[in-house]
Formats: sequence, structure tokens, C-alpha cells
Amino acid sequence: MDFSFTPEQNEFRRTVRDFAEKVIAPRAEEMDETEEFPEDIVRQMGGLGLFGLPFPEEYGGAGADFTTLCIAIEELARVDSSMAITLEAGVGLGAMPIFLFGSEDQKQKWLVPLARGEHLAGFGLTEPGAGSDAGGTQTKARVENGAWIIDGSKSFITNVGTPMSLFVTITAVTGKNGNTQEISNIIVPVGTPGFTVGKKYKKMGWHASDTRELAFDGVRVPEENLLGAKGEGFKNFLTILDGGRVAIGALAVGLAQGCLDQSIAYAKERKQFGRPIGEFQAVAFKLADIATNTELARLAVYRGAWMADRGMPFKKEASMAKLFASEIAVTAAREAVQIHGGYGFINEFPVSRFYRDSKVLEIGEGTSEVQRMLIARELLGF
Ligand SMILES: Cc1cc2nc3c(=O)[nH]c(=O)nc-3n(C[C@H](O)[C@H](O)[C@H](O)COP(=O)(O)OP(=O)(O)OC[C@H]3O[C@@H](n4cnc5c(N)ncnc54)[C@H](O)[C@@H]3O)c2cc1C
Repeated sequence: MDFSFTPEQNEFRRTVRDFAEKVIAPRAEEMDETEEFPEDIVRQMGGLGLFGLPFPEEYGGAGADFTTLCIAIEELARVDSSMAITLEAGVGLGAMPIFLFGSEDQKQKWLVPLARGEHLAGFGLTEPGAGSDAGGTQTKARVENGAWIIDGSKSFITNVGTPMSLFVTITAVTGKNGNTQEISNIIVPVGTPGFTVGKKYKKMGWHASDTRELAFDGVRVPEENLLGAKGEGFKNFLTILDGGRVAIGALAVGLAQGCLDQSIAYAKERKQFGRPIGEFQAVAFKLADIATNTELARLAVYRGAWMADRGMPFKKEASMAKLFASEIAVTAAREAVQIHGGYGFINEFPVSRFYRDSKVLEIGEGTSEVQRMLIARELLGF
């Protein structure tokens, strides 16, 4: 058994940490307040090669692996979750479907600009009436004169309304298979007539990440924009979510680590009753608990990433990692605010933002309830 990262991965972690601390941290509070997507920072992340990490060089990627992507997401989230989710969704949800299911032509056309960090893309699964039950898609697509005609809508979609956004890959009902809906994936470029990218949602957290509603009204795209085989769209999107869950787990680990680092510094510096508050056992034990849970979540997340990199089945492990890491992250953020006392409730202290940013980790890419259902299904075999 070997629990160590490679020297290259350790070096890369230092590079991303340095970038996060020098470039993102000084702007994080302002980004949270203005809720503006910081295009210049995201382009710098592209310049570091972050958006191409798990893809081969022939597609504009860095030829690294999924584990290295998780390291980058973790390090960004230690400082700012909005930039971490922009990377996670950009690679895991935007680019990965093209890499895994695209034809050679589609990879050259759509994956290369994403992997180079020049553009972003979205993953359009959730709808107003189809969330946890994502197979209940109502968006429909039919072929007419060599084109797909798409009608419907999507909710809560990340990375489609930014100045860098190029396209969204959606699920749409393209027919019937007996009693079940036939669902396919279709690439819809931003700017296609009839495709409306709605206003940004006002959110509890992840303020600088772009999340919007999308509407499709008689949208016409070429038939060759079908991604993967017709009828395989739902199955393929579920495959994407396995990797996505490990990556969200990495984001949760980073947030929890950020809470720990901020809280240790504060517990050493803040004095009450003539002593640093870290000398009170009630505070010290909170730190011990956050540290222990963060380390256990990290083990689960990188085991999932390790399995993914080796092509092993990792559905159950992905759900376990996401479930555990997201729940300990929410607890870590709550306890970090408690350790900071009243200052934890004030926006200029990062733990206040971490607290608001943490909750969605138990919701996005499958709620905690859905993760428990998936784990139980794997255990029970039905
Ligand atoms: C900021 C943000 C970004 C997002 N980005 C994207 C994106 O890029 N692309 C995308 O496609 N989606 C995205 N989502 C959507 C996200 O994946 C969904 O919100 C999530 O899957 C839950 O769906 P829902 O919101 O419809 O909740 P619902 O499915 O309506 O669930 C409501 C509650 O009921 C529970 N529940 C539902 N069914 C069951 C059941 N069978 N048993 C037990 N409990 C159940 C849920 O766990 C939850 O507690 C994003 C969401 C947010 C908030």
C-alpha cells in the first residue's frame, strides 16, 4: 500500500496553493460581495493548465490524471469555493462528456478549446421538474431536415452564462424504449437562436460561480451535435457524475482544510481570560475533530480518484467519498464559525463565506439522500 502522492503531484499542489493564496485569496471577499464572475482569474487558471489536467496533450490537455485534478480542486477550495467549482464543473461536467463520449471531430472542435482554458462549457441535466429524479427529463429533441429541434428548459446550470462559455451538453428525450423514455445528449452552442441563457440566480453561497436557468424554444442544431449513441445519454451522464462526485468530495476536503487552517491561526491568536482560546479544551477538541474528519475524507476522496485513474469500478466509493466529505465540510464550517465567535459571523473573515459555501456540497451532483440510496443499492444489489 502506498498513500503518498508523486513528487510531481506534491510540486503541483504547491504551485496551485501559491496561485490560490496570491491571486485568489486577496479578491475572494470582493468576489463574494459583488457576485461577479472573475474572468481574468479563470483565464489565469487556464494559463496554469488546470482545465486540461486529465486530458491527453493531443486534445490541448496536460496529460496528467484525475488525481491531479482533485489536488487542484482541493487547493482552490481551501481558499475559495467559487473558483474551485468553476474548475470542477468546467472539467468534470463541461469537458469530460466530450472526452469520454465524443467522436474525434467533436473532440477537436469542442474539447480542445476547453482543455486549453480558452472556453467553458456546461452540463445540462437538472430541470425544474427533474432533479434527484434526473431521468424524468421533459426537454425534448426531434430530428427534422438534418437538424435536432430542441424544446424545454434546464435549472441550476453552472458555467453557461460567462463571457467564456461556448456550449452546454444537455439531456433530451429523443424517443421511447417500450415504457421508458429514450434520452440522448446533444451539444447546444451558446448563441444558437431560441437558446436563452437566463439571469444569474441569487445564491446562498458560491457567489462568483455562474449558475443559471436555460430555456430552449425551437432551438435548431446540426444532427452531428448528438454526443455518444442515441439513447445512451442518461447512462453516459450518470457515468460523468461518478467522477464528478469524487471531484466534489475534493472540493469539500479543501473547504474543510481551509476552515481548519483559519481556525488554528485564530485559536492561537485570539485571547480570552488571559489565554489563547486554543488552550481551552472545548476549542482544541473542535480542532482535533475537524482535522480528523478532514483527513478521513481526504483518504476516501483520493482512493476514489486512484480507482478512477486505474479504470476500476468506483460508483459506490464515489458516493461514499462525496457523502462523507460534504457532510464533514458542513460541520467543519459550522464549528469554524463557532471558534471565531462573533467575528465568524462577519463577512471579512473567510469562515463566514466558507459556512455559506459549504451547504450546497450536500445538494449538488446528487443530494446526501441520493448518495445513501446509491450506496444502499450497490450493497443490496437492486
Ligand atoms: C449551485 C448549484 C449548481 C448546480 N449545477 C448544476 C449543473 O451544472 N448541472 C446540472 O445538471 N445540475 C446542477 N445543479 C442541480 C443539482 O444537481 C440539483 O439541485 C440536485 O441534484 C437536487 O435536485 P433538486 O434541486 O431538484 O432537488 P429535489 O430532487 O427536488 O430534492 C428535494 C429534496 O428531496 C429529497 N429527495 C428527492 N428524492 C428522494 C428520494 N427518492 N428519497 C429520499 N429523498 C429524496 C432530496 O434529497 C432533497 O432533500 C446545481 C445545483 C446548485 C444548487
